[in-house]
Amino acid sequence: MTGVVTTVDPATGETLAEHPAWSDAQVDAALDRAAAVQPAWAARASADRSAVLHRAAALLRAGAEELALLVTREMGKPLAEARAEVDKCATGCDWYAAHAPALLADEPVDTPADRSWVGYEPVGVVLAVMPWNFPLWQVFRFAAPALMAGNAALLKHAPNTTGCALAVARVLAEAGAPEGLFTALVVAEPQVPTVTARLVADPRVGAVTLTGSERAGRAVGAAAGGAIKKSVLELGGSDPFVVLADADLPRVAALATRARYLNAGQSCISPKRFVVDTSVVEEFTGLLLAEVAALVVGDPTAPGTDVGPMARPDLRAAVHRQVEASVAAGARLLAGGRVLPGPGWFYAPTVLAGVRPGMPAYDEETFGPVAAVIEADGDDDAVRIANDTRFGLGASVWTADAARGVAVARRIRSGAVFVNAVVASDVRMPFGGTGASGYGRELAAAGIREFVNVRSWWVQ
Ligand code: NDP
Repeated sequence: MTGVVTTVDPATGETLAEHPAWSDAQVDAALDRAAAVQPAWAARASADRSAVLHRAAALLRAGAEELALLVTREMGKPLAEARAEVDKCATGCDWYAAHAPALLADEPVDTPADRSWVGYEPVGVVLAVMPWNFPLWQVFRFAAPALMAGNAALLKHAPNTTGCALAVARVLAEAGAPEGLFTALVVAEPQVPTVTARLVADPRVGAVTLTGSERAGRAVGAAAGGAIKKSVLELGGSDPFVVLADADLPRVAALATRARYLNAGQSCISPKRFVVDTSVVEEFTGLLLAEVAALVVGDPTAPGTDVGPMARPDLRAAVHRQVEASVAAGARLLAGGRVLPGPGWFYAPTVLAGVRPGMPAYDEETFGPVAAVIEADGDDDAVRIANDTRFGLGASVWTADAARGVAVARRIRSGAVFVNAVVASDVRMPFGGTGASGYGRELAAAGIREFVNVRSWWVQ
């Protein structure tokens, strides 16, 4: 049985497409093709690979409107955000096309050998298991470096963004990637763990990268461990947004709102816990509430919409349960906290105050439009609260004194820390987590070096 993968518009609940799921034989054939084509791809001059990636960037820009609409239709983010995502993918492709040759060039080492150097060589086929929240960017941010490093790639995308998966494959094929170098597999849900485990175990697959939940990360990381394969796991986060007593509150509240409710809060690096100095918590919360009240929630294709629907009904139900349980445990509900009526999976932008340990809004990742305000008694207490999580992806610190911000930030455990700026990914900087947020890095030099065999050469 192979089944069908159905995509649904989260703003209306209407079916968009039904994609026949692939049989095991079709998946195996895709792996055969990827493994067969990879050595010749790796043997090409790096300038040839760069040319393909530059063309992919140009195609993304030329097709931006259509691609953005596809993203919005499949997962519900406002069209302006989808356009920005397409543009970011193009920038990412161009960056790796321009920089990968230097990042992967042989590095001579001075030893007693006649010649010795460090080489960065492909690992074969890279398997990627990706989520729906940035359905193009998550794919390009692994694919651009993996392909530039001379690997082939197989993508197991989230089922609700199957159209985006197929669109990426089309862009790369049109850009000149040889047939079979990059394939989007269409796999129906009950088969996903077995198919991915089988692929991870195959000797031709050299590495696996996953972005998604802890649950999926554990499953794929365990499969990779069992097969002694390199894995990169980019999982959830419960990023602290630390507001010190001297912060410029109106500016900070506006940025906090933008950061938290972007993509209906469905981002791993969205700030989820607002750790605010007691002396300013009332004023900050008031400003935050005013900003949240001004958010326009609705049709994600309409200009002016700030917050679209959540991507799936189960995700909305999970967030609502977390909000209700937090309120039952004593959190104060200051805004939202309810499922919005009508078709589509809209959730009212929510603000919880007085959030404390023992509440889901404190202890767990809230993957939806929910801000949790937590009071901190001074900088030391803010650091303690920021670190009081098993996650460690991003963190931000807000203050009028950048040096004080850096001092506080140094004491927070995370894969990225921003002072007086919203956490965001940037192809020039590594991206990844600590603790339950995962391991390994994407983007920049660190990202491309995850998908290579760092080989020592010694020639006498
Ligand atoms: P999942 O982790 O279930 O999905 C992400 C990807 O992993 C999908 O392609 C999914 O495929 C795949 N996957 C899931 N389980 C397995 C498995 N056992 N073996 C192999 N692949 C697997 O996330 P959800 O979409 O269900 O979202 C749930 C929660 O995950 C969110 O509420 C959020 O907390 C977190 N999340 C974090 C993201 C991030 O950016 N770090 C992105 C998305 C979600 P399939 O759906 O076909 O099972």
